[in-house]
Amino acid sequence: MIIRKSEAEIERIAAAGRILRGCLDMLTEAAEPGISTKELDRLAERFIRSAGAIPTFKGYRGFPGSICASPNDMVVHGIPGATRLKEGDIVGIDVGVTFKEYVADAAVSIPIGEISAEARALLEATRRALEMGVEQCRAGNRVGDISHAVQTHAESKGYSVVRTLVGHGVGREMHEDPQVPNFGRPGQGPRLLEGIVLAIEPMVNAGGPDVEVGEDRWAVYTADGSLSAHFEHTVAVTADGPRILTVC
Ligand code: MG
Repeated sequence: MIIRKSEAEIERIAAAGRILRGCLDMLTEAAEPGISTKELDRLAERFIRSAGAIPTFKGYRGFPGSICASPNDMVVHGIPGATRLKEGDIVGIDVGVTFKEYVADAAVSIPIGEISAEARALLEATRRALEMGVEQCRAGNRVGDISHAVQTHAESKGYSVVRTLVGHGVGREMHEDPQVPNFGRPGQGPRLLEGIVLAIEPMVNAGGPDVEVGEDRWAVYTADGSLSAHFEHTVAVTADGPRILTVC
């Protein structure tokens, strides 16, 4: 069941989204060679709680962190730990913030120091795929229009989209209907109506689309060891078109 949100509810998700964006901007500054993902997690938790909000991920199905931190060939769901980031890495940072009972969800992939041209191109293509998906987030369109836009851009650059992990509705719960795959056909899937709020989150692999879950049962890796990038926004369908809620 897709839950449409009132304007007041959308404002509450946007309030969570502003805290979240502040947190991601802070983490982007802090993510330098030598810092561990656990240290980034501590900074994030402190930032979110000092804003009077709750780190949504912490304790979600037993997840131990406030952020997911997923370097290089890790796609998503990395548990923060002792791993120190190093020059040339890319790291996906995914954060959920609950504020006044509403959730916002967003992710960025951050370059650590100087990165290769290949890594930079992957980040740029994934960020752009997200923008193309957001652009389709309009009343009267269907979820497949978002999916198709994301897939088409990623594949036009020679990359693959992950199939087994998808975006989702978001509101009082972090994961609501509908699913928002990063692949699909235009004109297919649930119709988008005013008040629908979606987390759109392309996961783009430099190599093939297949992924594997690691020994900790959380971390998802590319099966072929290729680099992967992840960007995500929470977006509302409004009368005025797409409204990104995870911005300052
Ligand atoms: Mg999400």
